[in-house]
Formats: sequence, structure tokens, C-alpha cells
Amino acid sequence: MTQGPPEGLPMTVRADGLPSRVRVHEVGARDGLQNESAVVPVEVKAEFVHRLADAGLRTVEATSFVHPRWVPQLADAEELYPRLADLTGVRLPVLVPNERGLDRALALGARDVAVFASATESFAKANLNRTVDESLAMFEPVVARARAAGASVRGYLSMCFGDPWEGPVPAAQVVRVCRRLVDLGCDELSLGDTIGVATPGQVTGLLTALDAEGVGRDRLAVHFHDTYGQALANTYAALRHGVSTVDASAGGLGGCPFAKSATGNLATEDLVWMLHGLGIETGVDLGRLTATSVWMAERLGRPSPSRTVRALSHKE
Ligand code: MG
Repeated sequence: MTQGPPEGLPMTVRADGLPSRVRVHEVGARDGLQNESAVVPVEVKAEFVHRLADAGLRTVEATSFVHPRWVPQLADAEELYPRLADLTGVRLPVLVPNERGLDRALALGARDVAVFASATESFAKANLNRTVDESLAMFEPVVARARAAGASVRGYLSMCFGDPWEGPVPAAQVVRVCRRLVDLGCDELSLGDTIGVATPGQVTGLLTALDAEGVGRDRLAVHFHDTYGQALANTYAALRHGVSTVDASAGGLGGCPFAKSATGNLATEDLVWMLHGLGIETGVDLGRLTATSVWMAERLGRPSPSRTVRALSHKE
């Protein structure tokens, strides 16, 4: 039985009050592979990023310049990044944890970098071995130097909705850290539901609280995890609020080591299916993207958890 129209596209019905275009910030090659147990060879990573660009994605987060001891899956950043030099017209952000990481990224010509902060003290301690304020102090020179070098800076904020040690996270606590990241000079903030516990009302509540504090939708991205099957519903709530940058991972790559379930990032295909159904432009070719995720799943030796990948690649 086939799922959906023969050409593999959803029927388009526009809904009021939504952006006409969404920028998909593809995180599969970084957030996805970082959280896979298998270590993928550098040639495969380079081909993956090229395939994602060929599928029409214009922001493809490429790798991370953290110490290889912390993230062995991405220890080949220095080897990978030069292999992407032909991808003009595609933004290739990289994660930088500190000034040393920034130096490595800038030396290779990175134009878009990201720092990663936490909304909660418990996760700041677990992930960065620092308090929230100490980590912000560490990022201050990173952001300033990146901007002085002409790079754009994205601030990731983890645990914006719930924390595995602290439970639900109050919006005011998230707003405080967001405000600090904006004041440091971050161009964009990505609000992460790292353990995937948020529901749409909570999303709307946080976005409303951020508005009131002057952190507007134009500089916000959302980063949802599908642990409890809420990622698309939460995305829809954010779109309704005017957010037009959405993080997603091709094929749903990557879990979260701190979440109960192996289900992690919102799959880009699931996101694009919904967006195209709503008549929202993304520039993404869903067929090519699905083929890429099937190809990567073969390399990882396990099927993609994306419902849309499964539906579109289903064979009689
Ligand atoms: Mg993620």
C-alpha cells in the first residue's frame, strides 16, 4: 500500500497566520552523528553534507570543534571541513565550545559558528562542568571574537522546557539566559527541548515571555526532539507565533544520551512534509532528502526512525 499521493508529496492546503517560507537548519551531520554510537568515516560525512545540499538545504550544520575526547564521533572536523569548500551558497555552521575551538574553526574559514549554553544549572554542570553564569562568561570572548572576524553566531540553549534532573523549567529562567546570550552578541538563538518533553502550550508560553523581554521571533529558532511524539505539534505552535527557522535532523538522526527513549531530533523529512502540506516554502526536495536518509541509514546499519522516510521509501 502506498502512503500519500503517487509523487510522494502531501496535498497543499494553506492555513492562516503562518510564515510563507521557513529556513530549515539541518543538524543531522552534527547533532545527529554526534549522538549516534557508530563513528562514520570522514568520506561518508562529506558525501552526506553534499547530498543534503543537493536536496536543497541551505543551512547544513557540518561539525563541531569541541575536544575530540568529548565527542569522538566528530573528531575529524579538521579533515571534514576543507572537503566542503566547494559548497558555495550553503551556510555550514560549526559548533565551538571555547576560544580554542573558535580559533580552529576560523582558521579553516568557518563563517557561521555556534556556542551551546544551558537554561538549567544541572545540565550546565553535566555538559560544560560550569554554572550557567560561568559558561556565559566563557562564551563572552568567543562571541565577541567571532563577530569581530565577521562570523555569525548562533546560541544554542539546551533544556528550555524540561530538565532530566530538575523537571519542568520555568519560562523566566529560560528568558534570563536568552537575554544574556542576545546581549553577548548572538545573532540567533535556538531554543532546545533537549529531552523532548514540551507540549504546544508551553512553547507558546515561552515565546510570549521572550517577546515581552524583547527577544523577538526574528532571531529565534526552535529545536524540538520527538521523544514523546510532540515535535511537530510544538513546531506548529512556534510557526503560529511567527518563528520561521526550524532545526531538524535528516532521517531523525541522533538520540539524546540524557533522554529516556532513543528517539531524538525531529526528522527533517517529517518537518518538510508538514511544511509543504501547509504551502510553506523550504526549497527542499523531499524525494532527494529521503533518498539521502535511506542511504545514511544503510551506512549506520539501522532503519531511519522518521515516519516520512519510512512511508516514502516503503516498497511493495
Ligand atoms: Mg538535538
